[in-house]
Amino acid sequence: MSIKLTQSQVMLHQMVTDFADKEVKPLDILIDKQRNFPAELWDKFVNTGFLGLTIPEEYGGAGFDVIASSQTVYDFAVRNASIAFTLEGHYKSVDQVLKYGTTELKEKYLPQANNRIFGFSSTEPQGGSNVMGHTAKAVKEGDKWVLNGNKTMITNGGLAEVYCVLLKTSPTELSCFLVDEDMPGFKHGKRENFIGMNGTPIGEIFLENVIVSEEHLLGTVGQGVAIGDNAHYDARILMGAIAAGITEHALNIAIDYAKQREVKGEPITQLYSIQEKITEIAIAKENTQLLYQEAAKLKIAGKPYAKVATMAKSYGSRASYTAADHALQVLGGYGYSREYPVEHLLRDARALQLAEGSLEKMMIEIAKEVVSEGKE
Ligand SMILES: Cc1cc2nc3c(=O)[nH]c(=O)nc-3n(C[C@H](O)[C@H](O)[C@H](O)COP(=O)(O)OP(=O)(O)OC[C@H]3O[C@@H](n4cnc5c(N)ncnc54)[C@H](O)[C@@H]3O)c2cc1C
Repeated sequence: MSIKLTQSQVMLHQMVTDFADKEVKPLDILIDKQRNFPAELWDKFVNTGFLGLTIPEEYGGAGFDVIASSQTVYDFAVRNASIAFTLEGHYKSVDQVLKYGTTELKEKYLPQANNRIFGFSSTEPQGGSNVMGHTAKAVKEGDKWVLNGNKTMITNGGLAEVYCVLLKTSPTELSCFLVDEDMPGFKHGKRENFIGMNGTPIGEIFLENVIVSEEHLLGTVGQGVAIGDNAHYDARILMGAIAAGITEHALNIAIDYAKQREVKGEPITQLYSIQEKITEIAIAKENTQLLYQEAAKLKIAGKPYAKVATMAKSYGSRASYTAADHALQVLGGYGYSREYPVEHLLRDARALQLAEGSLEKMMIEIAKEVVSEGKE
């Protein structure tokens, strides 16, 4: 770990690991197979206050910073990546309400975010990468906005009750609105039949003449792309933490198995081929952790963090996938079995190359930054 946690962060970390060891770790494979968090786990999770971790105390939350939230996401991801992914979707959405919401909106919705899940919705069925190709729109009528359109692939979609939604307010601009599932005209659609992160529903929403007041506009008219980018950068710190957590999970499984599996009377930890894989996984975990923690430190210091956050997710998304693959190989044939947890790590890690910006888009973003820095 490259950062020194404060006393309250150490206490939080201890509380999270105790909770995750007792309540989440034993259910890891079950969550993947059932494609859901068991209801009792969910109730305990919400009642323990994990949703309100980053919400300022004045709104009823615990007021922790991104060092603490990324550490928490990591601690959960070491036991089950889905539960960490659900938190990531919630925290990054709450962050945008906090940053761009009016005082009235924050007073109304942030206290609710302590026990209602939030999501962030940009992607549409015809495409996610090209946001200017979106068709869902908001039209001003008097002092209200009328919202219409279909959004898809939302992390926590269906589970979330409140959404930040990017909508066209003119052919050349997007704006961001806060939409509540209780509003007339709001409908949840189907859940995606995705291959991994099975505890987290990813789903669609429909807006049919949903009417919202001006205070539901986050930021200003036309600021949607900037808010979407900001949400991505906040999320990528947490996605880096999930990648590091999956990698640590793969490492733990590989080491436990290799210590007790014998070939010719010796544990396979004595074989160079196994040592090499374990070493590669361990290095990947350290590197990913350094990157997301550096991004978190930059964010707290008020410095630009987009590039390092994007590096954390782009590096971590591939490193965690490779780590899961190495761990599968350490377990031999059992690694390929659904009775062991490694195969779902492979499927979970794969999501990280798509969600919060595809790997290809991130590569372009990083290259642009690095090349422009090189000009100076
Ligand atoms: C697990 C998961 C969770 C998700 N959660 C959310 C969420 O919470 N909210 C949300 O709004 N969306 C979410 N998404 C959607 C995600 O953001 C999109 O899948 C992603 O933006 C890519 O969009 P697309 O799937 O439409 O692919 P497309 O945009 O159609 O792209 C297809 C391929 O072309 C490449 N490509 C496209 N444009 C370019 C370009 N300009 N340069 C180089 N390559 C390009 C892409 O990288 C990809 O490989 C989630 C997706 C997944 C898998």
